Amino acid sequence: MAKAIVIGAGFGGLAAALRLRARGYDVEVIEALDEPGGRARVFKRDGYTFDAGPTVITAPVLFDELYELFGKKSSDYFDLVPVDPFYHVVFNDGSSFDYVGDEDRLIEQIRALSPQDVDGYRRLADHSRRIFEVGYEQLADVPFSRVSDMLRAVPQMMKLSSHRSVYGLVSHYLKDERLRQVFSFQPLLVGGNPFQTSSIYMMIHWLERKWGVHFAMGGTTAIVNGLVKLLKEVGGDVTLSSPVEQILVRGDRACGVVTADGRRHDADIVVANADPSVVYRRMLEPRYRKKHNDARIGRMRQSMSLFVAYFGTKKAYPDVKHHTILLGPRYKGLLDDVFKKKVLADDFSLYLHRPTGTDPSLAPPGHESFYVLSPVPNNESGIDWREHEQAYLDRIIDSLEQRLLPGLRENMETCFSVTPDYFETTMRSASGAAFGPEPVLWQSAYFRYHNVSEDVPGLYFVGAGTHPGAGLPGVLNTAKVLDRVVPAPAQRRTGTR
Ligand SMILES: Cc1cc2nc3c(=O)[nH]c(=O)nc-3n(C[C@H](O)[C@H](O)[C@H](O)COP(=O)(O)OP(=O)(O)OC[C@H]3O[C@@H](n4cnc5c(N)ncnc54)[C@H](O)[C@@H]3O)c2cc1C
Repeated sequence: MAKAIVIGAGFGGLAAALRLRARGYDVEVIEALDEPGGRARVFKRDGYTFDAGPTVITAPVLFDELYELFGKKSSDYFDLVPVDPFYHVVFNDGSSFDYVGDEDRLIEQIRALSPQDVDGYRRLADHSRRIFEVGYEQLADVPFSRVSDMLRAVPQMMKLSSHRSVYGLVSHYLKDERLRQVFSFQPLLVGGNPFQTSSIYMMIHWLERKWGVHFAMGGTTAIVNGLVKLLKEVGGDVTLSSPVEQILVRGDRACGVVTADGRRHDADIVVANADPSVVYRRMLEPRYRKKHNDARIGRMRQSMSLFVAYFGTKKAYPDVKHHTILLGPRYKGLLDDVFKKKVLADDFSLYLHRPTGTDPSLAPPGHESFYVLSPVPNNESGIDWREHEQAYLDRIIDSLEQRLLPGLRENMETCFSVTPDYFETTMRSASGAAFGPEPVLWQSAYFRYHNVSEDVPGLYFVGAGTHPGAGLPGVLNTAKVLDRVVPAPAQRRTGTR
């Protein structure tokens, strides 16, 4: 049986492994860490369970599809429950907005904040639906391997004002600055600056309205475990604690990998779920990289990074919603600091996750489990996080205590944080970026890392660094693209490249 090796057990790698298995490949996933999930791994401390990364589950249909490949149902592996509101947004002046999926409730709140924007929102929603119909339904799971693939998409993208930024498009329809922020922050969920990311990412708004926002009981880790279980049931292998150091090339084709213990694993195709910038730079000898040389990779603009603090409290905070966005005093200025100037600002905007609002089993009885996330510059900033981590954490905790969680410090039981250094070292990401290359127009679709390597036949890519990009719907779609570019096992040496 033709063998596929998948480097990395993130959502991209697990989805790719399942899809290849369904097509008849013998599949082995080789993961560097001692647990699967990648950014979606889990931290368990002192009786608390903390999802390390993704918590907002959108487009559950993409998970269902993976189970349907084998005639199974995702609900037999994990339970997804809807979250309402999707996000509770708190503005710096103390006013707030519940970002929900139901149009009537959404309009009611828009009217309360800014009656003149009701009509504008309806037109914005219609525009995002049209973007979704093209950007998601037609383009998300198709390969952009050739210039012609891109050229075919350009007319439709121009018609939808894709040259505008998300913030630019939202501002065209909405006048109230608070509403502009509510409807433009979504690119941050995939590592993009709303002022620079193409408005094609407004599709996220429609995607959330169409399929809702969900949470997996037990945490996102329940989905990871469900996918691993399925993969094992259908005959795939997952090998943990085995960093891949080198991709082997025979003739001009990828033919396997070498892991850190010196073992050689032969394969007919290799699929990398690891960051493509790192794969090209560190796992392939320069002589095989005609296109992706160091200079070209160095010119890529990597996305922002994140500071994430995980903590438990012995006090319950029943009024705090599952997902809260705490906007700071500055919007554009802060994003300029993160993305352009790459400096650590004194202020911040935060996302607070309170999963125990939906699933109390994630903390000891009566306690709460939280994580708080702040977008920060990637490691091209030169910030020495060993020096700044504690002070930055203290400022965030103070702010949470003042704005949302009274008595936080005296009720806190466990607390630890990760910085861009974690993304660079543990997650092996270029510049410690949290989401791969920044999703600007000139690094999207054809201009993102291709799902088929142009340098080494038999080498493929899935995950946040490739088309269509970061976020769970994005990375699950990268695996769908793979279905269209990897030849069926029997014809692997003569099929499409
Ligand atoms: C804190 C945080 C919160 C987020 N929240 C959300 C959210 O709510 N909703 C959402 O949709 N998205 C969210 N995202 C984005 C989403 O988590 C990611 O885009 C997605 O999980 C990336 O999946 P991936 O498969 O591309 O990569 P990863 O999850 O990074 O997986 C790559 C895997 O490859 C492994 N690997 C790397 N190098 C090697 C090697 N040499 N050998 C073997 N294995 C290797 C890594 O260990 C890792 O397991 C969030 C991201 C972060 C960081």
